[in-house]
Amino acid sequence: MRLSFERFDLQLRHVFRIARGASTVDPVVIVRLEHDGVVGLGEAAPSRRYGESIDTVGKFLKAIDASRFEDPFQVESILSSVDAMAPGNRAAKASVDIALHDWVGKRLGVPLYRLWGLDARKTPITSFTIGIDTPEVVERKVREAEEYSILKVKLGGENDEEMMKVIRRATKKALRVDANEGWKTRETAVEKIKWLEQEGVEFVEQPMPASDLAGTAWVRERVNLPLIADENCLRLADIPPLRGAFDGINIKLMKCTGVREAVAMIQTARACGLKAMAGCMIETSVGISAAAQFSPMLDYADLDGNLLISNDPFEGVLVQGGRLVLPDRPGLGVRPRSSSD
Ligand code: MG
Repeated sequence: MRLSFERFDLQLRHVFRIARGASTVDPVVIVRLEHDGVVGLGEAAPSRRYGESIDTVGKFLKAIDASRFEDPFQVESILSSVDAMAPGNRAAKASVDIALHDWVGKRLGVPLYRLWGLDARKTPITSFTIGIDTPEVVERKVREAEEYSILKVKLGGENDEEMMKVIRRATKKALRVDANEGWKTRETAVEKIKWLEQEGVEFVEQPMPASDLAGTAWVRERVNLPLIADENCLRLADIPPLRGAFDGINIKLMKCTGVREAVAMIQTARACGLKAMAGCMIETSVGISAAAQFSPMLDYADLDGNLLISNDPFEGVLVQGGRLVLPDRPGLGVRPRSSSD
């Protein structure tokens, strides 16, 4: 096998602001895995929150000696060996996992969802994310999100009440709220969630800092809205301790090392009585299409990372009427974006 990679700078349609910072350009790494004349595509979208950067991804990928893997169908042993190279580096590991799965699907000539026995008609509706911003910008973003029936609102900043007021003035749509660990005390979290119960909110993601799981359990006993773990749920082994504090998990390929572990996480969440959701970073259609392939197994999807950028070099999963539409093409179903778009 041959592995190559390059940096690609994603241009954001709007400044994207969440509780811990803001950005206008987001670099990712696109991976190509070649064997037997077939090229699998992968992507790493590193996040500082999890200690990764373009540099750490490059360093990790460079250290992989892909030539010692002779059979890309041996997904289990290849990915176990890549995972064992170093702790962390989960987005870097995900890029190899995604490229390998794409390769297998392309080599066999089937989309991954078919390989897993899933029904492409059962994809979920995806939410569309509205970042923290001034009232004018928030109002414009809500108007632009017309096609989406569910909006995900980023709170946990200074102006939660103002954000909600502007959004509720603009739309009556179902809302999901992501606090990104922004509410620092239990009392604040309970107060905010009780307020959101009155605002037509479906669930709240990561209300409290990940370091305070006991605090989240305390909050959960006092509120009615379901709580979904994001920063508290990186990999498979994180799931069992979440019982009692959360009602569901948000799986992201860039947190969990890729598709192989993501599918195991969905099954484990079910076994633990937790709902399964998939989210994303700001990514091209490579990363988003990879997660979309297993989306028929999910309760909730927040796979809009490619919709927030203006220079996606690829096309894959589409959104029609808010619903994810899986392409009938092998592997991830991703191809270079045609110039007519
Ligand atoms: Mg989140």
